[in-house]
Amino acid sequence: MRPSKRISQRIALQRIHNLFQLADTVVKQDQDQARRYLQLAKRISEKSNVSIPSDLKRQYCRSCYSLLKPGTTAKITLNSEKQTKNITCCHCGRTYRFPYSSTALNERQQEPNNESQQSS
Ligand SMILES: [Zn+2]
Repeated sequence: MRPSKRISQRIALQRIHNLFQLADTVVKQDQDQARRYLQLAKRISEKSNVSIPSDLKRQYCRSCYSLLKPGTTAKITLNSEKQTKNITCCHCGRTYRFPYSSTALNERQQEPNNESQQSS
């Protein structure tokens, strides 16, 4: 007997979270393996009709499935004119822009060790 739709969707969401965690642990040693985990997560979300949670959506590149980890696979720059945070994928070069508010920027400046590294 097949599990109900709701249960299978909950299992799929759990698997997506697990795969993102796995990708996060291996990304420094093996970026191809991390990319494979995220491709699997995407396929699970498509097959089970579950969308990837919005907090995880910002963590991977949608064209090459790289995990966007600042300092290893992604470069973050801030555009103060347009008030955007630009995240560039180091594997394929695609750039994502997210708006930031001035209050969020102030919080970032208080903890200098967070995401503001610009190494490639
Ligand atoms: Zn990419």
